[in-house]
Amino acid sequence: MLVLVINCGSSSVKYDLINTEDESGICRGMVERIGAVTSIVKHEPAGQKKIKETKIIQNHTEALREILNFLLSPENKIVAAASDIKAVGHRVVHGSDMFKDSVLIDDDVKAAIEQAIDLAPLHNPPNLKGIEAAMEALPDVPHVAVFDTAFHHSIPAKAYLYGIPNRLYRRYKIRRYGFHGTSHYYVSRQYYKLILKEVKATKVISCHLGNGASICAIKGGKSVDTSMGFTPLSGLVMGTRSGDIDPSILFYLVEKEELPLSNLHALLNRHSGLLGLSGFAADMRELIIEAENGDRRCQQAIDVFCYKVKQYIGSYIASMNGCDAILFTAGIGENSPLIRQQSVKQMEFLGIKLDEDRNNNAPPGELTRISADDSKIDIYVVPTNEELVIAIDAAKIAQASAQSPWI
Ligand code: ADP
Repeated sequence: MLVLVINCGSSSVKYDLINTEDESGICRGMVERIGAVTSIVKHEPAGQKKIKETKIIQNHTEALREILNFLLSPENKIVAAASDIKAVGHRVVHGSDMFKDSVLIDDDVKAAIEQAIDLAPLHNPPNLKGIEAAMEALPDVPHVAVFDTAFHHSIPAKAYLYGIPNRLYRRYKIRRYGFHGTSHYYVSRQYYKLILKEVKATKVISCHLGNGASICAIKGGKSVDTSMGFTPLSGLVMGTRSGDIDPSILFYLVEKEELPLSNLHALLNRHSGLLGLSGFAADMRELIIEAENGDRRCQQAIDVFCYKVKQYIGSYIASMNGCDAILFTAGIGENSPLIRQQSVKQMEFLGIKLDEDRNNNAPPGELTRISADDSKIDIYVVPTNEELVIAIDAAKIAQASAQSPWI
């Protein structure tokens, strides 16, 4: 089945057209800087040359139209007719406690996603815009919402409750939700394909290290804890997000700098993390180069990042009372031998031993074991594919909805 996967940010629309039968990517791309003076449009049809153009794209509806025009244009020979696209899968960041699985989008689902805007003010509004725009562009196709939070619904109360008055949880649903669920799900499933052990008996730690980063403890195939919390701000140090901090720092800053709340929000979400620590860049590749050239603050940013990863790995080994495998994925996890090495170094006490050669020579884009043969815990690089998870879920739900109007 041909499924169009849509991932909308505040000024961008990413897309991926996937054939779920053989799991192949047909064409992917994005429209960036929507609403700016000029927008950037990129298309990557499989096996053909990449296209990059600048255009004027005012809003998400125009971006969707631009994408569909490209996919349906007879000269590009990608999709013959709009009716060949049988489902649209939408990445939705926050499903609050309402969505434990992917769902067919109707007015009630849209209203529920809107209700969750309070919980994810940066992410859910553009996700909703993307849904509206895509439903307008492809009105006769089933649209399915796939939530970043859904995989984490198995986390037990002892891990999702914060140490604050329980009334606040009941009244405002303040709890740990967790994100990157589709990625943690996908890489753990790739690992299960390699092993003979029953999934029920496995303990896995998945490290999604990209611009946004989170770690997930997966026991018996289910998420039992994760580093992101009420929002994607907590946990690891990220490109521009602070990760865990002592909440008292906020009170202190309000007093010392007389900062309004909106500035605090921007400080922790957009000016902290690797960017804030290094004072130079949010991008790990750039930091590694500068650190090698002797920049002390870039080195410190890398050290803080890796130390946090290591702490979470250690704590999840304790949570699960053991671990079979640590999986590294996303931009940094898949591509940086240095960060992987620094994140698991000096953990021999826990039975973790990296094989330096395997780690340094892991081919990009391939699932590779990088632990030493005598490591008690296996370590793998596993390329993630969140879009495929979204496409497969959307195809399943579209098929079911074709059979029953009650789905
Ligand atoms: P997101 O999808 O969250 O925007 P990605 O998963 O694409 O992020 O990861 C982006 C991060 O991966 C950036 O910090 C980038 O520098 C880093 N990255 C990509 N390739 C490498 C590499 N070879 N070495 C180190 N970091 C890398």
